[in-house]
Amino acid sequence: MKEIKVVEPVFVTDFKCVGSECRDHCCKGWDVTLDKTTVNRYLKSTQIDIRNIASESIVTVKKSFQKWGVMKLSAQKSCAFMDEDKLCKVHKQMGPAALSPTCATYPRIQQAYKFEVNKSLTLSCPEATKQLLSRPDAMLLNQSVQIQATANKNVDVDNEHKLVNLMCANMIKTAGCNANEGLYGITMLLLHLDQMKKDQGFNAEALENDYFNIIDAIQNGSVAKSIAELNNNHPLQWSLLLRMQTYFSAKTATRSSGMLQHYLLKLVHIQVHDAKENDIGSSMARLDAVWNEKVMPWMAERPHLISNYLQYRIYSDTFPGYEGRSPLASLYLLTAEWFMIRSLIAACVELVGVIDEFDIVNIIYSFHAVTKHNNSSMAAFFEEIDQVKVNDDLSLIYLLK
Ligand code: SF4
Repeated sequence: MKEIKVVEPVFVTDFKCVGSECRDHCCKGWDVTLDKTTVNRYLKSTQIDIRNIASESIVTVKKSFQKWGVMKLSAQKSCAFMDEDKLCKVHKQMGPAALSPTCATYPRIQQAYKFEVNKSLTLSCPEATKQLLSRPDAMLLNQSVQIQATANKNVDVDNEHKLVNLMCANMIKTAGCNANEGLYGITMLLLHLDQMKKDQGFNAEALENDYFNIIDAIQNGSVAKSIAELNNNHPLQWSLLLRMQTYFSAKTATRSSGMLQHYLLKLVHIQVHDAKENDIGSSMARLDAVWNEKVMPWMAERPHLISNYLQYRIYSDTFPGYEGRSPLASLYLLTAEWFMIRSLIAACVELVGVIDEFDIVNIIYSFHAVTKHNNSSMAAFFEEIDQVKVNDDLSLIYLLK
């Protein structure tokens, strides 16, 4: 028998779907694909209602065992099995065991290794995002052991990668609501790691020394001072936001795109208003001022909110490393995404006049629903971000000022 370590943040352990109370139901707006077993189960159900809906609304595409059928969406873009109370008829009449694997597991996701499983939730679920952002203890990690007959058929944990991952998460935690200081600290750590590998190869003890020095620098204010001394690069920030607006404007058919558009229009308003006066810098300065003067004091009373989000990203993305990208390239992507989310929050606060956690949850869950629904949407979005680099991955530094 084999022991498998199971790791999951507290908000994952405690997650419960809110069903009809959900602000943006996952059975709305997305293609629901069904595997062959599920299609046959619904078509042959003893429940007449289920059988009738299945024969009218399942299109059998037979692309693979997993993609055997696709649900036709109603005029309101809802799954045909969703009833008037926004509850699933299959779940109600046949029980949870009858659900397709996708419906049964969403929003749960996991990363499996030979002797370890890391569990998480996708933030395209608004309730998962709400729990992550509102609970101070959301990213505390629970650990348990499960016994299996054999090990998982996955690669073993890479201990060097795991060490770097934990160090990065702790820097974000140490920086609290000053997310940019945490990201700057991670930049220093990854640069040291890169140099170390070129000079002498990986050395865990030397990296730990660097790590503790950077943690000290975050705590004693040296990192904040270094960020304050950076030059602004408003054209880079402007180009990134403009590219994002163009990209999202073409994504109107995706679930939650309406919600994201609602916040994007506020950002467009600020950028366009200042563009009329032919001054890119003033719109960026305006967003910066709102962030520092209105958002940060509010965040300082809830230091877990930003910190939990970025700790989540580091944990769930198994940072640093996305499809073979170097650690610095991964950090560039994370920093660019954070800059976009930060700008959407600032634009909303500037135009609405108040800051509300409800809006922040909306911005983050809809951003994830549109950009991270599947591997191809993630790859397309990252390609867009890559277009804005000036010289190399280190241009991320200009997004921290
Ligand atoms: S999006 Fe999340 S909370 Fe909403 S219905 Fe789906 S699983 Fe439940």
